[in-house]
Parts: sequence; structure tokens; C-alpha cells
Amino acid sequence: MTDVMPPSDAAHAPDARPHLASPDENPSFIKGLFLGEIRESMVFPFPTISPEDKESLAAILDAFRSFAKDNIDAGKHDHDGRFPDEMREGFHALGLMGLNIPEEYGGFGASAKVFNRVFGEIGATDPALAVYFGAHQSIGCKGIVLFGTDEQKQRWLPRCASGDLVAAFCLTEPGSGSDAQAMKCSAMPSTDGSEYVLNGTKIWISNAGYAGLFTVFAKVPVTIDGQQKERVTAFVVERDSPGVSLGKLEQKMGIKASDTRSVIFENVRVPAANRLGDVGQGFKIALEILNSGRLGLAAGSARGVRQIMNEAIAFAKQREQFGRPIAEFEMLRRKFALAAAECYAADAAWMLTAGLVDRGGVDFSLETAACKVLASEMAYRASNEALQIAGGMGYSKEFPFEQSVRDSRIMLIFEGTNEILRALVALMGLQQPGERLKALGKALQDPINGFGAISSYLKGRAKSTLNQPDFTQVHQALDEEAQLVASQVHALARGVEWALRKHGKAIIERQYVQERLANAAMDLFFCTAVLSRITSEIEAADGKLDVVSHELDCARVFVHMAYRRTRRSLRALKNNQDERLDAIAAHAVAMVDLAPAAPTDR
Ligand SMILES: Cc1cc2nc3c(=O)[nH]c(=O)nc-3n(C[C@H](O)[C@H](O)[C@H](O)COP(=O)(O)OP(=O)(O)OC[C@H]3O[C@@H](n4cnc5c(N)ncnc54)[C@H](O)[C@@H]3O)c2cc1C
Repeated sequence: MTDVMPPSDAAHAPDARPHLASPDENPSFIKGLFLGEIRESMVFPFPTISPEDKESLAAILDAFRSFAKDNIDAGKHDHDGRFPDEMREGFHALGLMGLNIPEEYGGFGASAKVFNRVFGEIGATDPALAVYFGAHQSIGCKGIVLFGTDEQKQRWLPRCASGDLVAAFCLTEPGSGSDAQAMKCSAMPSTDGSEYVLNGTKIWISNAGYAGLFTVFAKVPVTIDGQQKERVTAFVVERDSPGVSLGKLEQKMGIKASDTRSVIFENVRVPAANRLGDVGQGFKIALEILNSGRLGLAAGSARGVRQIMNEAIAFAKQREQFGRPIAEFEMLRRKFALAAAECYAADAAWMLTAGLVDRGGVDFSLETAACKVLASEMAYRASNEALQIAGGMGYSKEFPFEQSVRDSRIMLIFEGTNEILRALVALMGLQQPGERLKALGKALQDPINGFGAISSYLKGRAKSTLNQPDFTQVHQALDEEAQLVASQVHALARGVEWALRKHGKAIIERQYVQERLANAAMDLFFCTAVLSRITSEIEAADGKLDVVSHELDCARVFVHMAYRRTRRSLRALKNNQDERLDAIAAHAVAMVDLAPAAPTDR
């Protein structure tokens, strides 16, 4: 057992952290919304793809598509529950396993825009393959890229980039899923500090059966101020280390070819040189990895919406009922149109966020969470609607719809469930307004000495909650929409202040409130992404609105829809049925009986 937390030693100092955000120093767009601010300089102009990126992207997509045509059969992968070895080898030969790995370590060093666009293409072709690709690069070896020393990077990344070494990310355990800090997996340091002995079981590990390398999180015992504590720490563990074994293949609802298993560590001796970062940094490392990894799921979901709805449109054009193609019926046309508006918004949001990631030094954690939550729900909804459009055929395995419903469902669960991410957006967003109010509370107890704090609070308040913020860079054709969004940013800041005053610290337990604030903030972020995107599209068309009329329709439909949702959420902060909901839930939980007996049951 180590006596003290080891100091940050040079051997474990990371070299470069291109995607890391420092929330204390760097602004976040969504955190600004909670303060009633529209931080336009972060989101205008809409990011563009450089000519070099455009060229590489086109080449990568062409190569992938021509490979996919002959080698990727998502239906067969689903049926067989595995990828053929030749398919994986061919996929590796395309160089895609190193897309996100820096060039100096054998990868392609793609920007976030290119990486996530490719992620989307793979996801639309075969979601299970996107999970293989993402579990490897977005999370599996991402810790080495972000936190590894040069020696660690040299040792593992070139083989990860070629696909010789497939990576997996081991965080979840039987007793700790969302509450990852409650993990039991332990890493006991040897007395001479040269190695750790790892024990524990990780479950639901994507790529487990294909992997040669695991990023594992375990607790290291430490003594702090004479007290025994445990600190989550990250390690790289090689598959062939004695004591590493795999559980049986999980039989899943979807993404069946993605090999998911438990990974068991029994007295595995892990060299200290395999530790990522310092002892105690593991939880932060896990969060940083997941923060950037989530964007791939959003880009994949956005392209999934497009893909499955295109299948549904093709079906609806040829299927005739009542003497005409079912694509002519308005109830179905509405489904196409709403999915199109959502697809437009999801593409705008992930691309805007990728621009923030590429810019560096920005806190993008809430933006990637918002992208993952909303895009995953759009994709699941679109799959369900596409299945409905195909009627009975939608339910048949002869068509891709039922697989799409099964495959897209996981996106709402992994890399942070959508409930946990909503709580994250709300609680992180509430932090700064909460601190301001706390400072005000203290200052009011001693108004003479606290005068500075009071006046700075009032100035901040005057700026954010008393005056409505404005968009100044949205094209005038969208004045009405910009005004609607700005009005809700203002309403959000007022709602935040009201909620903090009413609940104080207890806001941590008030998830009805958190959910409403998070939903409002995420929709407002998506609306802003839409306004930024459409403005750049109008400008690219030299202001000719008729050239971008299709884009304008999608943008307007999305903003009006999201505006109505946001207004409803924020009004419900004060005017709601929460007490009744709580009473019903309490009854159901206590009795394990959902609802009052049906009239026929009495
Ligand atoms: C196919 C698949 C692949 C996966 N791949 C990986 C992987 O590669 N690596 C890895 O480490 N993990 C992986 N996971 C695990 C995944 O990340 C977890 O399943 C997820 O984090 C949820 O944890 P849990 O299943 O324990 O659910 P729980 O945490 O038990 O949650 C159950 C429900 O309770 C809700 N809930 C929990 N806490 C709260 C709260 N405080 N407030 C409100 N609601 C709450 C959740 O949202 C959820 O709806 C994978 C899972 C699956 C199914």
C-alpha cells in the first residue's frame, strides 16, 4: 500500500492533450445559457471543413463505401452475431482503426469533423461495426492518446492504428454502472512500487473478445492525512497478461456482432509503467474519454436517422394502398418531414461541437452530452417511425427496419445513460449560477464588506436575467426564430435563478427540475447550432433564399418545434403535477403494482 498519494511524476506526465478542456478557464456554450448568455463567438461562424480535410474525407469515404459494398453485410453480422475475420482484416487494412490516432504514432490524426463524419458513415452502414470502431478508438485507446506518456504511446498506438491490437474500455462492473465511482476492482501496488496486482470483474465490455488491450479503471489504496482511502486509477492491461480471462458472449437485443463480454482480472500483475496518469486521476480520465467519445455516437445517430428514413421513403414510394403510393398520405409525410428537420439539427449540432473540439481549449463536455442525448433519441424515434411506415413488412427480418430499432436502442444507454447525462447537463449548468447566488447570500449578511460581491452579482443579473440576450450574427431571414430562441435563453436563466432560490442545495435531489432545465438547455443549444448552420448556408448562397429554401424549411420547423418544447419545460418549473407524480410513483414502488386495479379486476 502506498503511504501517500504519489506525486505527479515526470514518467506519467502526458505530452499533449489536444482535446482536453479546462472547465475553470475555458467557456462552455451551454454553461453560458444557464447564465442567460448567448456566447456567439463560440458558435459563429459555423465551422467549415478545410480543403485538405475535404479531400481526405472524400478519399476515406470512397474507400470505405467501395469496401462496404462487397464486404459489409449488416444483416448477416446481426444473424451470425460476429464479424467474419476477413471483414475485420479488410476494415483494418483501410487504415480506419488509426483514424483518430496522431500521425506520429502511426495513425491518420483526423480532425474531430472528419473522424465523426466517418463514424456516421460506418454507423449508417452497420451500427455494430461502428461500435467496434468506436469502442476501439473513441474510448478503448483514447486514454493513451490523451493521457499516455510518449513511451506508452510509442509502445501501443502504432499497433492500435494498424488494427493489430484492438482496444476496449473497462469501466462498468456488476455493482457499478452509472455510479462508476462505486467500483470494486482493485489495484494493489507492490512494496517496491514496480507493479500493481489487479483484481475484479468488468462487465458489458464492447470488443472484449476481439481486444488485445484494455484500458481498465481500478481503485488503488492510498493514505491521506493518516487515513486509508481508495483512488480510482487507470491502467493499460494487455490481453495475454496471466490472470486475464473473458466471460461468455452476451446475447443482446441489437449490435449483435459487437463482441460484448465480461472481463475478469485475477491477480493480474500490471507493470507500474502501464499506469495512465497519476494515482487518483482515473475518474477524471474516464470522464474526459467519455466526453469526447460521445460525439461519435451522436454523429452515428444523425446519419442513422437519414439512412433508415431513406429506406422508409423508398418503401413508401412503391407500396400502394387505396390506389396510390402510401408516401402520398399526410400522416406519413409528416413523419418524413419531422425526421428531416431533426436530422438537419443533429448534423448541425454534432458538426458545431466537432468545431469546438478541433478549436482546442474549449469545455465541450455538456455539448457532447447534449449531442449524444438528443441525437440518440432522434435515431431511435426515426427507426420506430420507419418501421411503422413499412407496416407489417417493417416487422419482418426481410427489411432493415426491425434491426434498426434493435441496433439504435443501445445509444440511449451506453457511454452515460440519457438520464445521467441530463443530470450532468443540469447540475454542471447550475454550478456557476449557484455560486453567484451563494456569494450573494454571504454578502447580504454583511452588506458593507460584501458590497463588491453584491454589485458584481447585480451587474451579472442585470446582464443575464433582467435583460433578454440577443443574437447579432443570425441572418435576418431568421429574425423571428432568433428572437424565439433568445426569449427562451432568457426564460432559462430566470428559471435557473427561481429553481436555485426555491430548492437551494436540495436541487441535487430535484430531478423533475433538473430534467426540465437540461431539456431546455439542450434544445436551445441545438437551435443555436441550427441558426448558425443556416446562416452560413444563406451566406454561401450569396443571400439567395430560394437556393436554400429546403434548408430554411428544416431549420424553421426545428426551431419552432424546439421552442414550443422549451417553453413547455420552463413553464412546468412552476406549474406542474410533480407532487401527484411523486405520490403515484411512491405508491407503485411501495406496492410493486403500477396502477389502480382495472374495473374488471375489482
Ligand atoms: C451493449 C453494451 C455495451 C457496453 N459497452 C461498454 C464498454 O465498452 N465499457 C464499459 O465500461 N461499459 C459498457 N457498457 C455499460 C454501460 O455503459 C452501462 O450499461 C451504463 O452506463 C448503465 O449502467 P447500468 O447498466 O449498470 O445501469 P444502472 O446504472 O443500474 O442504471 C439503470 C437505470 O437507472 C437509471 N439511473 C441510475 N442512476 C440514476 C440517477 N442518479 N438518476 C436518474 N436515473 C438513474 C439509469 O439511467 C438507467 O435507466 C455497455 C453496455 C451495453 C448494454
